[in-house]
Amino acid sequence: MEHFVGLEAKLRRWYEQNKRHLPWRETSDPYIIWLSEIILQQTRIDQGLAYFKRFVENYPTVEKLAEATEDEVLKLWQGLGYYSRARNLHYTAKTISTVYNGNFPSDYKEILSLKGVGEYTAAAVASISFNLPHAVVDGNVYRVLSRLFGIDTPIDSTEGRKQFNELANEILNQKNPGDHNQAMMEFGALQCTPKKPKCGDCIFNDWCLALKENIVDQLPVKKGKIKIKHRYFNYLLLSNGTSAYIQKRTANDIWQNLYEFPMIETSEKTEIDQVLNGSSSLYNPQTDLVEEVSGWGKQVLSHQHIHYRFIQIQLKNKKSLLPGLIEVNKKDIFNFAVPKPVEKKLTQLNWF
Ligand code: SF4
Repeated sequence: MEHFVGLEAKLRRWYEQNKRHLPWRETSDPYIIWLSEIILQQTRIDQGLAYFKRFVENYPTVEKLAEATEDEVLKLWQGLGYYSRARNLHYTAKTISTVYNGNFPSDYKEILSLKGVGEYTAAAVASISFNLPHAVVDGNVYRVLSRLFGIDTPIDSTEGRKQFNELANEILNQKNPGDHNQAMMEFGALQCTPKKPKCGDCIFNDWCLALKENIVDQLPVKKGKIKIKHRYFNYLLLSNGTSAYIQKRTANDIWQNLYEFPMIETSEKTEIDQVLNGSSSLYNPQTDLVEEVSGWGKQVLSHQHIHYRFIQIQLKNKKSLLPGLIEVNKKDIFNFAVPKPVEKKLTQLNWF
């Protein structure tokens, strides 16, 4: 470690000269920091920035977010994916409003106890808003540390998480942990990037062990790949005059509490007849007309690939409402928060 003396000061200078000016860097308001951290997880900054601005505009305080309905929050979040983050965001806003009288907790353990807040977010809010000495360890930090210190312990192992967490806390600037954490993450995002890191003009290129040993492209190490699950969604676009039918996804599954067309899930790409035979409560072959069947599309999620298609059906009669089925006027359908495949389909329909 000794030859890394001065790392922190060098990093801080680099950060001052290179940091991007982003709205959440202009404040220490814990609501804003928390909001930005939740929005930016697994999201590119340019995409996240637009959502962040929209949320701050609609809900400038945690109280305002708490007052919104979950449907409104999900609608604003639509397109960002990982919808449990939005549901937890809303749930936690309500907790802060009721349990903490609208004041964000300032204790690390209390922050960590909030729904949807993991160690990473808790450390970010604690250090940036309350100057508490907790190191943030996100994907950027894993990468920078593994390369700088030449560590090949898999970052997705218990041992790796512990080792990197300890190291990140060891080198943390105790007096200014917020800036230090942001500098580490920014350095990973701009300089020590996953592909083609800029080692040539790197402030650490005389120290960096990975560079010295020529193993930059081998670090960080990951243990195993995630097993992807394939699912097949057959959406029934039932329509009758100005009416269409949707349902809310209430199960504990992807896209929970979003709306979609009635859907039949199959274990593989199944023949249309087979799908429709299994949905007699929605489709009557004697009277209803299958107008169009789309090709298969694919929505890639982190652990699942959703294969989907749309079967457009003209109903002879209005549906007597089955439990969970909602009749809506076609022109109102854009008011509902829907998953990406449905959103895409809506923009292609000539319903409006
Ligand atoms: S020298 Fe290269 S690998 Fe090492 S810290 Fe700098 S950018 Fe990253």
